[in-house]
Amino acid sequence: MKILIAEDDLTSRLILTAILKKWEFDPVAAGDGGAAWEILQQPDAPRLILLDWNMPGLDGLAVCRRLRACESRNPPYVILLTARDEKGDIVQGLEAGANDYVSKPYDNAELKARIRVGQRMLELQSHLMEARDALVHQATYDPLTEILNRRAILERLTQEISRAKREGKSLSVGMCDIDHFKVVNDHYGHQAGDEALIAFTRRIQNRLRDYDSFGRYGGEEFLVIAPGSLGHSGESLYERLRAGVADAEIPTTAGTLSLTVSIGVAPGTGLSTVDALLAVADAALYQAKAEGRNRVAYAGVP
Ligand SMILES: [Mg+2]
Repeated sequence: MKILIAEDDLTSRLILTAILKKWEFDPVAAGDGGAAWEILQQPDAPRLILLDWNMPGLDGLAVCRRLRACESRNPPYVILLTARDEKGDIVQGLEAGANDYVSKPYDNAELKARIRVGQRMLELQSHLMEARDALVHQATYDPLTEILNRRAILERLTQEISRAKREGKSLSVGMCDIDHFKVVNDHYGHQAGDEALIAFTRRIQNRLRDYDSFGRYGGEEFLVIAPGSLGHSGESLYERLRAGVADAEIPTTAGTLSLTVSIGVAPGTGLSTVDALLAVADAALYQAKAEGRNRVAYAGVP
């Protein structure tokens, strides 16, 4: 593990560097607070810091305060090295944002033990970050298809309506429903049904523009949000999605099958509401189904 040593006294710095190497850490040395700060700005910077309090220019406390002022997902662990051991000084150091302190002259065994504590804290912190990221992912993505889940796609729709309002642009929503999907599950089994759902989402994804959004709204219902789209039949987007699903067979472990999709499109603006857009798209989808499926129906177009 890399450890940053910020110490202005050359002899102390060399001794500390040698000790850390002996303990099989990877020391990086800086002769003052400014140099230490620069090292900390680099990618892959050390995350444990032995920080001398008294240094010319930027002292240890100033470095601590700067570090704590930065919004960091994964803040470094700071051990302040100080000859000042009066209680008031220690409080000041901890309040500036140090995690721990060691008084000089320090006892090697104690220093090593405190570094180990820091190392454990950093590991714990990393694990917590990973767990949090995993939870955010779970809360946002559909586990089967790995596209946005219902909650996330509806949240995206709210955002896109706000953006449309800000930019004075239009948007459209396409409610997509795989035709006769129950038959697929009944005939090929749920495993093949799941494989078909995944293949379906990939085909749609490959035909969307970078700024479109796509999410799973329910079992075999999906939502496309197309910013800038007017949502009328002169546009090629939804027809391209429909054709992309219908044009090729889908291989599954239970055999090759084919799918078609019906899409109901609702045009929207910055003044639209989520509920109204969904209701209009749903009605258009109903129309597409009624007209024979495997087609796109645009709201307001008889
Ligand atoms: Mg000093």
